[in-house]
Amino acid sequence: MRTLIKNIDILTMDENNTQYKKGCILIEDDRIAFVGHETELKKVAEKGTKYDRVEDGKGKLALPGFVNTHTHIAMTLFRGYANDLPLMEWLSRKIWPMEDKLVEEDIYWLSLLAIAEMIRGGVTTFADMYMFMEETALAVQHSGVRGVLARGLQGPDANSQKRLEENKRLWENWHGRADGRIQVMVGPHAIYTCDPSYLVKAMELAGELGVGIHIHLSETRQEVDNCIKELGKTPVRHLYELGLLDGHVLAAHCVHLSSDDMDILKEKDVKVAHCPSSNLKLGSGIAPVQDMIDKGITVSLGTDGAASNNNLSIMKEMALAALISKGVREEPTLIPATSALEMATVNGAKALGLDGDIGSLSPGNKADIILLDVNGPHYYPQAHWESHLVYSGYTSDVYSVWVNGKKLMEDRKLFTVDLDKVYSEVNKIYKRILGE
Ligand SMILES: [Zn+2]
Repeated sequence: MRTLIKNIDILTMDENNTQYKKGCILIEDDRIAFVGHETELKKVAEKGTKYDRVEDGKGKLALPGFVNTHTHIAMTLFRGYANDLPLMEWLSRKIWPMEDKLVEEDIYWLSLLAIAEMIRGGVTTFADMYMFMEETALAVQHSGVRGVLARGLQGPDANSQKRLEENKRLWENWHGRADGRIQVMVGPHAIYTCDPSYLVKAMELAGELGVGIHIHLSETRQEVDNCIKELGKTPVRHLYELGLLDGHVLAAHCVHLSSDDMDILKEKDVKVAHCPSSNLKLGSGIAPVQDMIDKGITVSLGTDGAASNNNLSIMKEMALAALISKGVREEPTLIPATSALEMATVNGAKALGLDGDIGSLSPGNKADIILLDVNGPHYYPQAHWESHLVYSGYTSDVYSVWVNGKKLMEDRKLFTVDLDKVYSEVNKIYKRILGE
């Protein structure tokens, strides 16, 4: 299958930040075969200029699909349920008791609801940590997106061994499946929900499976203060000394970091998922993003779950990431629009170990492409695309979405998710669990 999208402006987000005016993109099966000007395409087209489908991209802007590197997608059920509480109170009083009522099949429908929202917001890949993850894997398979999935692990307690086994089974059943769209990580929740011996077990499982670790890290001041009080060291140093940072690690939040912590994150090449909305809403603080970038740490963007955001918009996270640092540090030069876009695309790919496959519109990469309708007044004058996207864009501008060379949405209509059916199932779950 060969599809040519022509007459389109393109932000490739490749290492040279190459951009094209009225360029074209050739998709061959699941990969990008060419990005550039049509005159060049004709010169290099080995298989001729016959296409199964040609699309006119006039009035659209193409860029790589956004990567959401930290979320708990099934928490869409709790969107708006508990607001204005600090993290520990929010978790222990509101979220955890309700989560106990969730059954396996709920997770499928709640995941599909989140995936539909993400596709409509231009997110083509997400990294998730939760429970009943095989249901989320099924939702990824059916919906056509790309997912990096981890079983959330807490322990030790009566079920902690079972959770490790579930993470392993998730890997056995789903790693590399759905045309390669599903990857599996190991998901120890955090240092305050996993004791050192359990963290080591999670680390050993990741080593055995040859996969990365997805963990919450230094999210609140309380987490850091308690760790120092109990263990005499910061959470980052605690994980470092356990050896947990020796493999591929995706660390969500990293709000409260010492200079020594940042040196460790750089030394161990830990990838950070910056989640500004969630950090603001839970009053957790503001991550030192520019300092991390200056150190050479890979910083990507996550929404966290819809219960603490309350949506799954990476475009919103881009705007916040750029704006907060400038305001808090009283320095407008921090996090320019290009950096925010890198965080949402190429850095997201690196954070998940998927660079070389996704994150930029480059020949050979998977065809994970989004087209934005840039005819709205908020995109005029039609120049300065990076600035428009970060400071002026809305998720509702996303016009079409491709993942793995397959079109999942056009003109905002979803092809793989039956929204009416999802809404009806989610309503039933809501009534059963939250009793309204
Ligand atoms: Zn989280």
